[in-house]
Amino acid sequence: MLRLLVIIALIWVASVILRRMSAARKRPPGKSAYGGKMVKCAECGVFLPPQDAIDLGGGRHVCSAHRRGAGD
Ligand SMILES: [Zn+2]
Repeated sequence: MLRLLVIIALIWVASVILRRMSAARKRPPGKSAYGGKMVKCAECGVFLPPQDAIDLGGGRHVCSAHRRGAGD
């Protein structure tokens, strides 16, 4: 009976460690604080936060580097 309790305790500890590891993997420390939706530049395909993109309308966005070329 005691052996069974030790095994259950070990499984529980392992599951806690695994859960912590997977939670840490979801949020890498080096990643940007912006966790929301990213938009894609229609010219170069780079993903950037909407506040850094130029909205062309119709769901199209460009990065600041392609603002002139894609605009008019
Ligand atoms: Zn671009």
